[in-house]
Amino acid sequence: MTSNELFALDSQAVMQTYGRFPLAIDHGTGATLYSPEGKAYVDFASGIGVNCLGYGNEKWLEAVCGQAAKLQHASNLFYTEPYIRLAEQLTARTGMKRAFFANGGGEANEGMIKLCRKYSFDKYGTGRSTIITLRDSFHGRTVTTLAATGQDVFHQYFFPFTEGFRYAVANDIESVRAMDDGTVCAVMMELIQGEGGVLPLSYEFVQQVKALCEEKDWLLAVDEVQTGVGRSGSLFCFQQYDILPDVMSFAKGIGGGLPLAGILGGEKTAEVLTPGTHATTFGGNPVCCAGALSVLEQLDDDMLAEVKEMGEYLRNLLLELPGVVEVRGMGLMLGAGLREGCNAGALVKAMVESGVLCLTAGHNTIRLLPPLTISREEIDQGVAVMRQVMEAAL
Ligand SMILES: *Cc1c(COP(=O)(O)O)cnc(C)c1O
Repeated sequence: MTSNELFALDSQAVMQTYGRFPLAIDHGTGATLYSPEGKAYVDFASGIGVNCLGYGNEKWLEAVCGQAAKLQHASNLFYTEPYIRLAEQLTARTGMKRAFFANGGGEANEGMIKLCRKYSFDKYGTGRSTIITLRDSFHGRTVTTLAATGQDVFHQYFFPFTEGFRYAVANDIESVRAMDDGTVCAVMMELIQGEGGVLPLSYEFVQQVKALCEEKDWLLAVDEVQTGVGRSGSLFCFQQYDILPDVMSFAKGIGGGLPLAGILGGEKTAEVLTPGTHATTFGGNPVCCAGALSVLEQLDDDMLAEVKEMGEYLRNLLLELPGVVEVRGMGLMLGAGLREGCNAGALVKAMVESGVLCLTAGHNTIRLLPPLTISREEIDQGVAVMRQVMEAAL
């Protein structure tokens, strides 16, 4: 089908929940994507931080296609090797104790919220179910994870939302303390707020929250859905903050493009979820887990060092673009903060039309989440298109 045929059929047959760019994507190689008509686009978006190995990665393809040919699904009534090996890898490389597998970030966060409340219920009984989250956070689109998300725009239409969330201010430990009304069981946060604007938490604040959680026996629940799987330059972002979460979630990049997510529980939390308390039909799907095993195998220390190096390279190029006043983020999770009055949405739309896929975050930030395997040449090409657009617009 041509792009125009796809646009027309989508407008008839698909619920119009997405503000899509007028671009259809047909295939890709490396960090470059192609429309059905064959026009090339440098990919600084990775399907929102998902396609961490880019397109056409041979080892990943071999793992995924091989597993699909062997067994595509078995359900969690039975044991299969891929999810067990994946859990072993994830725990060995993080210091966490046990894994639970889900299918997407919002769903993983639901599991993490259930775990936090059950930890507290098992130990203290009822009345201690409040979870503190941060303003400008994003935790998902289910009714409960919308409630967990600390942005008022998400608290509309779908009432009643799940009770028991209180919103503190990032990098302000006193505002976290002020939420303590005796009903708190956990603090849940992203270490770099992604959708909220690519806003890294300060090292000091994260240390203070960790200490407060230990003092009060609150669980520290870290949402690594966007920051995880090499994105920040370490396998998980918490490893750069010198903390071990009590429980954490991951999703986006883990399957290298296949839907997979999960939570990792530490010493306090590994045995909280017991038979019958949590489950999902697709969780730990063998094909998705085979893809994830290939992702983790490729994400070794050399590749993580490369992510940091490419991240620095891209950061320095972004800093030279007109209208960019600062660049925030870590590794290949970068946000170019624009000067007052710039319209990030309009700029990104023009960039997509001109041949580079970028994202926004908050009002005033262009967000970049390129494949972790992106080459210097592809970065140069993409930034050249960004420069063209910004010079014309600003
Ligand atoms: C994307 C995202 C989610 C939601 O993940 P889905 O897979 O869309 O459900 C949750 N938390 C963070 C930090 C995210 O970036």
